[in-house]
Amino acid sequence: MPLSRWSSRHKKTFNKKKKEKWDGNFRLPPKPDSYYTQTKGCCRWCGNTILNEDGTINTRKTWHEDCATEYLLIYSSGEQRAQLWNRDKGICNHCGKFSMGWQADHIKPLVEQKGVLEEDLDWSYYKLENLQTLCKKCHRTKTNSEVVLKGKGKVNYKKWSK
Ligand SMILES: [Zn+2]
Ligand SMILES: [Zn+2]
Repeated sequence: MPLSRWSSRHKKTFNKKKKEKWDGNFRLPPKPDSYYTQTKGCCRWCGNTILNEDGTINTRKTWHEDCATEYLLIYSSGEQRAQLWNRDKGICNHCGKFSMGWQADHIKPLVEQKGVLEEDLDWSYYKLENLQTLCKKCHRTKTNSEVVLKGKGKVNYKKWSK
């Protein structure tokens, strides 16, 4: 993940001194306390120290590569598409067909995190493993099935992943 590809949202919030109160938008979960730290060599995402190969603290860096990738997956829709494309190359995970108009889908729907308190958020919902490529048709079918099943228990996700 090239660290130069930061989203505009990131630029806007980066180096803010104080943590802002989360607005409860489950699509954009709150950032960790470490995001607001000014400490050199401390990862903004996981809060752990960034080390050089010789074990000393790298004070020039503020992100682990993997952490930056994970961060961008959540907060940059462009980067999310780039990462999905890298993995799936536009192949629908349900019907197996390539589609130019492929869409990013959360296997476990993000909406299930709606109304969940900050400390109870399930971060597995925001990981690449919970994202899949779907063609428009399959995406629509899945979304419809979720609507139908609402209130009757959960969607059969297995059906939708390989
Ligand atoms: Zn990290
Ligand atoms: Zn499909």
